[in-house]
Amino acid sequence: MKRVTILGAGLAGCEAALQLARRGITVTLVEAKPEKIEPAVYHLDGPAELVCSNSLKSESNATPSYLLKEECRVAGSLLLQVADSVKVPAGESLAVDRNRFSEATLGLIAAETGITYIRNTIVDSIEALRERFPADLYIVATGPLTGPSLLASISADNHYFYDAIAPIVSAEGLDLTKLFWADRYNKGLPDFLNCALTQPEYDRFIDALLAADKLPYADHEKPQFFDRCMPIETMAERGRETLSFGPFRPVGFFVEGKRPHAVMQLRVENAQRSAFNIVGCQTRMRHHAQREVFRLLPGLENAEFLRYGSVHRNSYINAPELLADGWNLLKHPDTYVAGQLSGIEGYGESIFSGLYTALTIVARFEEKKVPLLPVATMSGGLLRKLRTKAPHFAPVNANFSVIENPTRLMKRDRKLFYVTDGIRQFRDWWNGSAAFLSLP
Ligand SMILES: Cc1cc2nc3c(=O)[nH]c(=O)nc-3n(C[C@H](O)[C@H](O)[C@H](O)COP(=O)(O)OP(=O)(O)OC[C@H]3O[C@@H](n4cnc5c(N)ncnc54)[C@H](O)[C@@H]3O)c2cc1C
Repeated sequence: MKRVTILGAGLAGCEAALQLARRGITVTLVEAKPEKIEPAVYHLDGPAELVCSNSLKSESNATPSYLLKEECRVAGSLLLQVADSVKVPAGESLAVDRNRFSEATLGLIAAETGITYIRNTIVDSIEALRERFPADLYIVATGPLTGPSLLASISADNHYFYDAIAPIVSAEGLDLTKLFWADRYNKGLPDFLNCALTQPEYDRFIDALLAADKLPYADHEKPQFFDRCMPIETMAERGRETLSFGPFRPVGFFVEGKRPHAVMQLRVENAQRSAFNIVGCQTRMRHHAQREVFRLLPGLENAEFLRYGSVHRNSYINAPELLADGWNLLKHPDTYVAGQLSGIEGYGESIFSGLYTALTIVARFEEKKVPLLPVATMSGGLLRKLRTKAPHFAPVNANFSVIENPTRLMKRDRKLFYVTDGIRQFRDWWNGSAAFLSLP
C-alpha cells in the first residue's frame, strides 16, 4: 500500500489529498483546526478556508491568473471544480461563497474512503510528523502562518513578508441610496457595489486614514510587503493620490456623465449578498480606527463590521535553495512542501502547488518523473522561478514575466496569445508526455 501523510488541510493540502486518493494512494490528512493557529486568521473550522478575499482572481481570457486556472482545470483540479460550483457574481473574477467552498471540499474529502482526516492536531516538526503519522512520503502544506518550530525543522533559512486582509461589512449596514451597482467599463453584469467620492470626500478619507491609530510592528521585524497586499495606509503614506490611482481608481465609471475623483468598490462575499468585502482596503488600523475611517465613506456611515482588516507575517521557505527537482526537500527527500509555504503566493497558485505535488508523488510511486512543463505555460514558468536561485528570493505568483513565448504581437493581442497558446501547450503536454498522470 502506498501511503502519504499531509500536514495542513488548506488549499494545497486538500487538492493534494484528493488527487492522491483518487489515484488509489492512502492519505492521512492532519489538520490543526478547530485548534487555533496564531495569529487568529482562520475563522472557519472546515478545510480549504479562503482567509481573506473570496476571489480566485480574474477569469478574463487575457490574464495570467486565468491561464493558471485553465491549466489546473485541464489537469483536473478538484478544488477549482468546487470553486466553479459555488461561485458568486463578481464581474470577470471567479469569486466564491467561502463557507460553501469549505463545506463542499469537506464533502469530497469525506466521500474518499482512502483519506483519513484527522482534526484538532497540531504537529510542530517534520520529525514529529514522521513519528506520529508514519507513511512512505510526506507533504507539509501548513501555509503562510506555519509556526516557528515546524519552520525551524524544515530549515534555518526562512523568509517572511507581511500580508494584509481587508474588512468585510454586512449588507444591512450599507446605505444603498448612496452606492451604485456597476462593473468597471460596464463589462458583464453589475456585480460590485460602488461608492463614488468627490475630491473633498476623498481628501477627508485620506486625512483620517493617515492620522488613524495603527498597530505597530515588532521591533525586530522590518515590514516588507508583497505589492498587491500592501495596507491601504501604507499606500496613502506613499502619496495622497496613490489610492485614486490604485484600488480607488475611478476609470471606467461615470456618475451623472462625469468620472468621479475616486471609486471605492464592495465585492459580494456570499450567494445571499448579505456581506461585502471592501476591495483593496487591507489595513493594520486598530478596530476602533477602522470603524471611524471607513464610516467616512458615503454609504458606509453605519457600516457593521463582520470581520476587521488585519496584517500578518507570512512565512515561506527559500525554495530555490531548499527544494529538489521534484519539490521535495533536499535535506528530507521523502518530504514535500506545498502551497504558500513553498514560495508561491495566492489561492490559485496554492491549489496548483497541491495539484503538482500530488502528480510528482504519483510519478515517483511509478518510478517516473513528471515530464518538464513547457516554458510557455504558467505552471512551467512558476516552477522554473521556484528553482532559480536569487539573492533575495521573494514569493512568486502568476504573472506574464515568468513565462517565455516569443511573439511580435502588440500588448493586448500579446496577452491573449500568451493565454491561448499557453493553454494549448499545456493541453498538449497533459495529453502527451504527461498522460500517465491522468486520473484513472
Ligand atoms: C491573512 C492572509 C490573507 C491572504 N489573502 C489572500 C487573498 O486575498 N488572495 C489570495 O490569492 N491569497 C491570499 N493569501 C495567500 C494565500 O493564497 C493563502 O494563504 C492560501 O490559503 C495558502 O494556501 P495553503 O494551502 O498554502 O495554506 P492554507 O490555506 O493557509 O492552509 C494551511 C492549513 O494548515 C493548517 N496548519 C497550519 N499549521 C499547522 C500545524 N502545525 N499542524 C497542523 N495543521 C496546521 C492550518 O490550520 C490550515 O488549515 C492570504 C494569506 C494570508 C495569511
